[in-house]
Amino acid sequence: MIYLNGDFMPIEEARIPVLDRGFIFGDGVYEVIPVYSRKPFRLAEHLHRLQHSLDGIRLSNPHSNKEWSHLLERIIAGNESDDQSLYLHVTRGVAKRDHAFPKGVMPTVFIMSNPLLAPPAEWLATGVAAITASDNRWLRCDIKAISLLPNVLLRQMAVDAGAIETVLLREGFMTEGAASNIFVIKDGILLAPPKNHLMLPGITYDVVLELASANEIPHEVREVSEYEVRTAQEILLTSSTKEIMPITRLDGKSVGDGRPGAMFTLLHQLYQNYKSTVMRG
Ligand code: PMP
Repeated sequence: MIYLNGDFMPIEEARIPVLDRGFIFGDGVYEVIPVYSRKPFRLAEHLHRLQHSLDGIRLSNPHSNKEWSHLLERIIAGNESDDQSLYLHVTRGVAKRDHAFPKGVMPTVFIMSNPLLAPPAEWLATGVAAITASDNRWLRCDIKAISLLPNVLLRQMAVDAGAIETVLLREGFMTEGAASNIFVIKDGILLAPPKNHLMLPGITYDVVLELASANEIPHEVREVSEYEVRTAQEILLTSSTKEIMPITRLDGKSVGDGRPGAMFTLLHQLYQNYKSTVMRG
């Protein structure tokens, strides 16, 4: 069951007009929220980021946080899996094609849910491969915009190379992955690039840094150079649907000794413990 503009229906019945500005211009924003045991994880933080994205494209929020919570609750209840991945999407609505904002148009609101599948055990046991590429996206990567063409092309480069993610480099520094945040471990220190307009402020990224602080894991939030990425002991990828994963090959070369490292093992365990505590509470 999905939600579209006030109605709940099977996805096969959902229709939007071709003049929707999401379809014509990619003029909209979205969120992906993981649900564990039918409870949305870090909901307040995701709704806060949605507001930031809406502000960034100057679109007023069609719902209060309370309304969003109710809509999401109904979608969670209307879908089979206990663990789900909620996708919610707001566009500037349907209007005659013109780049400038239309007046008096209702935004389009769409919510769907997919089963949230745990990453394959093999990926966690042996790690995954990634490639690097030049970050050719715009300068507002902090907005979770539905116009994802650069991200689509960058991630396909990884798939074509038999890898699962593309680590993006801009002017000698790492920004993030095509669909994830990236951490680097150097000299036993967890390094995270600072949140700014060049990367999406990841919800999982925040959880990892909170866990690092709470558990006295040495960490620094600062710019991470391409050199540090290429000579890292470990590289970690984070996202709501992939959680924390070890990148053990970069551009065909081993990262560290080529196996998931101690920092990955520790943070992955802490993340699983944290999830269980939050979900019980
Ligand atoms: N950066 C980009 C470009 C992303 O698309 C995503 C989410 N898929 C992330 C980072 C990770 O964000 P989160 O932890 O909130 O899922």
